[in-house]
Amino acid sequence: MSKKDDDDLRIRIGNMMAEGLKTLTEPFPEDNHQFELVLRELRDIDDNDLEQKLVVSGFVDKPYGEEEQRCLECMYYLVHRKWCDLPELAVPVEAEWWCRLWRI
Ligand code: SF4
Repeated sequence: MSKKDDDDLRIRIGNMMAEGLKTLTEPFPEDNHQFELVLRELRDIDDNDLEQKLVVSGFVDKPYGEEEQRCLECMYYLVHRKWCDLPELAVPVEAEWWCRLWRI
């Protein structure tokens, strides 16, 4: 994908959340097993079904929880590309967003 494609898709995702997309922010996976269950669910989603991917991963467009977790500190965030590098997601993101697959 070109940078423009990334930028367009990031805007589209941002708009979906701004329009009130309800996503599964809970339960937060507490261990590797629960994390893997969410990943498995994501792998079963059609690659073109962006909305369902966002729903299952619990995307939100702001820092989350008391600790204000964000993509910026997540191990999957590529800062220069503003990209989520978790293979099951692989989408452009903003540093201030979050999803329940957040990990450091
Ligand atoms: S896994 Fe979630 S929190 Fe981490 S970079 Fe991707 S979208 Fe952001």
